[in-house]
Amino acid sequence: MLYATQTLYGVPVDQQEANWSTATLRDVHTWLQRGARFTGVAWKNDEFGVVVTALNRVRKALGGKVTHRALGLGRTLTFDKITGSGTSWADESENKIRLNFGFGSADEDDVNTTIHEVGHIVDGNAYPGLGYWSVSSSVWTDAAGWQLAGEHWVLTPAGRAGAPTGRAWKDPLEDFAETFACYVEMHPANLPGSRGYPHREYTPDLARRNALTTALNTFR
Ligand SMILES: [Zn+2]
Repeated sequence: MLYATQTLYGVPVDQQEANWSTATLRDVHTWLQRGARFTGVAWKNDEFGVVVTALNRVRKALGGKVTHRALGLGRTLTFDKITGSGTSWADESENKIRLNFGFGSADEDDVNTTIHEVGHIVDGNAYPGLGYWSVSSSVWTDAAGWQLAGEHWVLTPAGRAGAPTGRAWKDPLEDFAETFACYVEMHPANLPGSRGYPHREYTPDLARRNALTTALNTFR
């Protein structure tokens, strides 16, 4: 079925993929009203599905008020679809997440990636001003076991063991985003509907979860 226009609620729609399900359309509309924006190259139906699924899981885990504040929805949260070789990343200063869905259909891995990127946005918004909460004080780095060696962050062996994934070992920001994604996916409100966090290699330790709670409390 072809649509007469290429936008729906201001959202660019790939006409060949405009086979909207009622549920997805309703969810997209709901999140537009809550302050989400979609920009970039033509979005496909399943890609909208990825973002609203991710946002719905975040909201289930955090609640409406914290989600609104933590995601900066009051000043809009932009999802910018990119293609080509660029990777997905979050721009805290613009409250924007660039998403590259790659080839093939968007899937559950893309949902995990989106929640991870939302974690970076939360990390940025937890810190007043430009920067990230996770490296602005010692709360996160001490809890997770990060130590500065010159200009580089080094994770203690105990910190490695308590990290949710190997990806979290990269630096305190990745650790925060991975812990956030794991927290959302494993939250009782999202299980068993979610498949959990399939790439989780370890159980995030209590110290990380407590530190994440401290960050989320800044939005309460
Ligand atoms: Zn990241």
